[in-house]
Amino acid sequence: MSQLAKPDDQTLCVQHPAVSLDGYQSFSTPVYRASTIVFDTPQAYRERAQRSPDGYTYGLSGTPTSRTLEAQLSSLNGAVRTIIVPSGQAAISALMLTVLKAGDHVLLPDNVYPPVKQFASELLVHCGVATSVYDPLDLPALERAADTERTRLIWIESPGSTSMEVSDIPAIVRIARSRGIMTGCDNTWATALYCKPLQLGVDVVAEALTKYVGGHSDLLLGSLSFADIELYGRVRRQLANLGVGVSPDDCSLALRGIETMGVRLERVGKVAADFAQKIEGRAGIAEVLHPALPTSASHALWQRDFAGSSGVFTLRLAGTSQQAVDRALGELQVFAIGASWGGTRSLIAPMSLANDRSFADMDRDAVYLRISIGLESPSDLWRDLENMLNALADPSR
Ligand SMILES: *Cc1c(COP(=O)(O)O)cnc(C)c1O
Repeated sequence: MSQLAKPDDQTLCVQHPAVSLDGYQSFSTPVYRASTIVFDTPQAYRERAQRSPDGYTYGLSGTPTSRTLEAQLSSLNGAVRTIIVPSGQAAISALMLTVLKAGDHVLLPDNVYPPVKQFASELLVHCGVATSVYDPLDLPALERAADTERTRLIWIESPGSTSMEVSDIPAIVRIARSRGIMTGCDNTWATALYCKPLQLGVDVVAEALTKYVGGHSDLLLGSLSFADIELYGRVRRQLANLGVGVSPDDCSLALRGIETMGVRLERVGKVAADFAQKIEGRAGIAEVLHPALPTSASHALWQRDFAGSSGVFTLRLAGTSQQAVDRALGELQVFAIGASWGGTRSLIAPMSLANDRSFADMDRDAVYLRISIGLESPSDLWRDLENMLNALADPSR
């Protein structure tokens, strides 16, 4: 047996000494960084493919940091596995690129996160995948549009982006299952704390962790949580084909964010519901779109399928000019103007749905204000909103 010589200094520089972890018990998950994974034997290296999809073979396919976040989201969603991807949009596109092939057809709700429609019209179409947009409130029409032969996926987003309609998820699942069609649901607004689409029968749930899990407007991540292990393996493999992985630093921030998600959601949900109620009926406001309002057409479904409401809701303004809206938004000092909600800072985004919707029977010229409540003092926020509402009510001010 050869005696191991003491390595030279240059070797000592690249080999970290092993230290004891005995007694080191911390609440935090380490940031495990790696591109390379090393193997104990040549045979283990040769057979590394057998470790897929759950084992560690290369940094791109996961680290203990990302797997910890995945396991946590699986547990919250009641999923068999979760995959973390670089953004919410990437979660949706990765799923669709895995399950849809040339000749297939996908159904997207009219109120879907708008970049998903763009993904379909600019990318899926070139893969030979046909897309139809369905009215999330007209299920008989969805039944007619769901084609047993061609339709592979019915996508759901509930509540829908900006216009906030709650879908009848179990009814859509029944339509899909009776035709052998897969369902997926974007659950970003509710998070797994307030809605569990897998329990309602959906096959896969997407969430933009960028929003409430991250919670601090400083990271981009998305997740896919699966009811079925086979589909999980296929998506994992497709992500390897695409060369898509996530940074353990971002996962570490998400692991920190998710610890406070429960209290953050409770707070922003309560303040948003309170403000929505107080704003209803005020001059200049045509409609407050929030499913927790008893006056909302979505209220009954929300009560049936959701355990709470988060901090995002929308105001539809009554016959206001762009100029008057701009002036009213100029009154805001606490709310910032911007998108990508779910952080500690309150946001307002002026939106138009005119070019975005095929079905909603809506006033095409209406301006919508999407509001995301943050963690500032509720009385400071209300004072700020009242200044804006007063300016909207009296454009001559
Ligand atoms: C923000 C958002 C997304 C996209 O998330 P990113 O991480 O910004 O790509 C998807 N769906 C919904 C409902 C969203 O609000």
